[in-house]
Amino acid sequence: MRFTRLRLNGFKSFVDPTEMVIDDGLTGVVGPNGCGKSNLLEALRWVMGENRPTAMRGAGMEDVIFAGAASRPARHFAEVALSLDNTDRTAPAALNTADTLEVSRRITRDAGSAYRVNGRETRARDVQMLFADASTGAQSPALVRQGQIAELINARPRARRRILEEAAGIAGLYSRRHEAELRLTATETNLARVADLLEGLATQLAQLQRQARQAARYREIGAALRQAEGVLLVRRHQIAAAAHDAARDAARAATRTAAALELEARAATRAREAAEQALPPARDEDAIAGAVLHRATVARDTLAADLARAEDDIATLEARATQIDSDAQREAALDRDAAGALAGLEAEMAALQAADDGIDDRLEAAAEAAHAAGAALPTREAALDARAQAVARLAAQGDTARAALAQAS
Ligand code: ATP
Repeated sequence: MRFTRLRLNGFKSFVDPTEMVIDDGLTGVVGPNGCGKSNLLEALRWVMGENRPTAMRGAGMEDVIFAGAASRPARHFAEVALSLDNTDRTAPAALNTADTLEVSRRITRDAGSAYRVNGRETRARDVQMLFADASTGAQSPALVRQGQIAELINARPRARRRILEEAAGIAGLYSRRHEAELRLTATETNLARVADLLEGLATQLAQLQRQARQAARYREIGAALRQAEGVLLVRRHQIAAAAHDAARDAARAATRTAAALELEARAATRAREAAEQALPPARDEDAIAGAVLHRATVARDTLAADLARAEDDIATLEARATQIDSDAQREAALDRDAAGALAGLEAEMAALQAADDGIDDRLEAAAEAAHAAGAALPTREAALDARAQAVARLAAQGDTARAALAQAS
């Protein structure tokens, strides 16, 4: 396997696409200091999988991208492609697909780098293995940088052995052995983890067996429970059926009762309608009776008032009658007195006539007094008669009023 061409684009000082052809024999690059000779070697290392920024003389891997100059802006990516002649087909099986292999590495700012072999994306490890098998690679002593010869001369035996192994073409084997050791370690770790897992699984198994026993017991209890529930449901069903029958009988009895009650209700409705029809005359009669009662009540109140008034009048008239009686007695006394006086006067007049002529005047005066008394007497008697008539009339009115009161009550 042989390098045939190196293409650079945006790598360090190679801002424009640049191609370096490596033909048979020696290929040399000649130029003044700072023209970029070392950048070419770094491009080779980089495309073969170098991952140390210090090996690229930078602080970070993105420093390999053209950083710009006074007259040109910075680039966003850098790409290096290395063409290999694979006509002898010595590439690892996975990449041994063509006579010419083009390995490229491209780095983009903030996105990292990616490898391609003949345009197909490839893992960095496969690319590194490809060059290790070819006894070269990013770390290979075959790539000699400035001052490295002096370092080799003064190198320790171990470093020298590495150079010899590289020359013998067994560096790839070492790399593979290292990889195999790593895999072995990983496998051992996995085995230890598997043992742990087995232990955990054994614990889980014991747990699961216990749970399985519990589940079997649960199933047994569940079956018994379901059976008991079935019996319970049957019993409940029987009770419910009996209750249903009783309820149906009760419903029938209630229906019959309801029918009877409906008949009664209809009869009552008819009776009510009849009563409603009979109600207006009864109401009229009631109104008439009410009016009659009202009138009788009014009449009774009037008669009671009349009675009270009549009794008052009777009392008044009785008082007056008493008064008149006493007046009549007094008049009678007066009459008696007058008659006595008249008799006395007549006696006196007779005595006087007999006794004295001058007695005529006195007689005349006595006669006048007697005459006046006589004149007053009829008047008094008439008044007495009138009062007696009034008493009789009032007594008759009182009798009439009492009779009316008795009738009203
Ligand atoms: P010498 O013979 O002195 O070792 P040389 O020919 O090997 O020099 P290099 O060291 O390869 O030259 O190249 C250095 C040049 O590359 C410098 O001019 C530097 O400015 C330029 N350079 C390095 N990195 C970048 C970058 N990222 N972007 C632009 N230019 C860069």
